[in-house]
Amino acid sequence: MKSPYNSFYGIRNAESEIDLRDELDRTLNGAIDEIRKGHQGLIRTMRKDSDGNFVRCPCRSKVTDEPDKDYYCRFCMGHGYLWDETKIVYYKNEDSFLVEKGVLFYLQYDKEISSEDYIVEIELDNEGEPIMPVT
Ligand SMILES: [Zn+2]
Repeated sequence: MKSPYNSFYGIRNAESEIDLRDELDRTLNGAIDEIRKGHQGLIRTMRKDSDGNFVRCPCRSKVTDEPDKDYYCRFCMGHGYLWDETKIVYYKNEDSFLVEKGVLFYLQYDKEISSEDYIVEIELDNEGEPIMPVT
């Protein structure tokens, strides 16, 4: 006979399965019986033109094709290409057995990201406000 008690999640219906989206949401945002473990961040999605090429920032040099390193470009912030940002809540695992090198980020299922995009981590002060500038 199955026990309805699960030591991790308290009493549950033994016949129901765990909803992984709900569990990740509880992990990221917390619940009445769970501490919030998510951090605020941004997904920096690189803009592409109709041909699928990255949209170049006007700060790129016509001679070297490099973004301007002497002047901090407020549009591309040194990427050399234009991008859009979306606010996210993420959980970062730096000690995962799933990846040999690097870091594993857990995002909510409705956030799309590709290998060309960037995750920007936002450092918060003791009041929970972002430390500026966001780097
Ligand atoms: Zn630029």
